This record gives sequence, C-alpha cells and structure tokens, in this order.
Amino acid sequence: MTVRPVRLFGDPVLRTPAAAVTDFDKQIRRLVKDLTQTLRDQRGAGLSAPQIGVGLRVFVFDVDDVRGHVINPVLDFPDDEEDEGLEGCLSFPGIYYDVRRRLNTVATGFDSDGRPVRIVGDQQLARCLQHETDHLDGVLFIDRMDPETRKQAMREIRQADWAGLPAPAVKVSPHAMHGLIR
Ligand SMILES: [Zn+2]
Repeated sequence: MTVRPVRLFGDPVLRTPAAAVTDFDKQIRRLVKDLTQTLRDQRGAGLSAPQIGVGLRVFVFDVDDVRGHVINPVLDFPDDEEDEGLEGCLSFPGIYYDVRRRLNTVATGFDSDGRPVRIVGDQQLARCLQHETDHLDGVLFIDRMDPETRKQAMREIRQADWAGLPAPAVKVSPHAMHGLIR
C-alpha cells in the first residue's frame, strides 16, 4: 500500500470524466488499497481515483466509522429531501463552504472483486457519496455551490497558498510563450 499525492484544484485530471472499470483485477485491488491508505493518511471522509491521478470510476469513503469503496457507482435518491451543510475536499486544502445536497442517497456498484455492493447513506455519508461520484464526472464541489458562495470560495481559493501549484513554477512571459508555440 502506498500513500499517493493528492492532486489539487487546477490539475486537469480533476476535470476529466473517469472511465468505467471493466477488469476487476490485481491492479484495481491495488488502487483501492492505495486510495484507502491515502484517505487514512489525509484523515478525509472520501477520496476518488482521479484525485490521485487515476482516471477510473472508483472511490473510497470513511464516514462515522462506515468505511468502504465503490467501483462504477450509480446513485439513487429515495426521496426529494435536501440538506445544506459544510463541505470540504482534499483537492482544496482548507476550503470549507456550504453545499446543498440530497439528504438520502443509495450508491450501488461493485467491490474490487467484482461483487455487487449497495451503500445506503443519509446526512454526511449521503453527502460523501454524492461528492465522490461527482469527482468521477469531473464535477467539483464549487460547481454545486450557489453563485454567491462560489464567488466567495473562488476568492479564497485564488489566495490560498497552494493556488496554482500544478502550474509551471517559472512564469513564462508572452514573448517567450510566442517562441514556445513555434
Ligand atoms: Zn473532493
């Protein structure tokens, strides 16, 4: 098991829809173990494969002592109830804002041996299942905020010490850039 670096907002992998898992092989079991280890290391509630740079539909979760993983998740909502609550993301260190989510969520999918799994969650677990499944579609929690909250969040993100970290460390002037394009 390996703790893998978590990709930060700005990394294009976080905006790329992930592919369905077709082979439930050793590599997938390894991926689930790495995700589990990384989530534990970061003390997070959930972590998706794209967040460690792997474009596959896999996530792990650890909410109120309910732990597990889901591969190729499909979400169902048993009712229309919603819940607004504080949400964070390991790809946005230190950023916490209110996000409106469905209160009850059922995730169905597979485990790393290809056996069907079904996770029934409310409140924080429901929030986590929605947040992580969004990651697999390249959707981030800032996309789920109301416009005013998102504006505030983006301001804080731009000022965060990690902002722009995936970009090249050396600024390229427009002149030099012209040279590069050639
Ligand atoms: Zn996240």
